[in-house]
Amino acid sequence: MNKFDKAYLKMAQEWAKLSYCERKQVGALIVKDRMIISDGYNGTPSGFENCCEDADGKTHWYVLHAEANAILKLAASTQSAKGATLYLTLSPCKECSKLILQAGITRLVYINEYSDDDGISFLRNHNIEIEQISDCELKK
Ligand SMILES: [Zn+2]
Repeated sequence: MNKFDKAYLKMAQEWAKLSYCERKQVGALIVKDRMIISDGYNGTPSGFENCCEDADGKTHWYVLHAEANAILKLAASTQSAKGATLYLTLSPCKECSKLILQAGITRLVYINEYSDDDGISFLRNHNIEIEQISDCELKK
């Protein structure tokens, strides 16, 4: 584990705190050549009300995941995620793992394990380098 991985994950944790979602707050950073080229947290699309859950506490289907937001932000810029590293506070779901692969991201570093590990297996099978750094390791 290198000190930059730790520092970027800590920043991703700060980004997670910006999320308006109550059930789960997730942060993402995309780093290339030791520069942060994009960031994101889970939330509703621009122009929507900043509320992720319905009255029953269920997450709205239109909430974008943190990594999807970070990747989409790049789509609107001149930067590319090709060969970049993605830092996440929570491992990606299946839907986002497709975006990660297609965006050309080659390395993923995350803190917590999402309940469904299909996304991680998918990325591993497509030669994405994956590393998990636990929350207590981060605090060391
Ligand atoms: Zn997702």
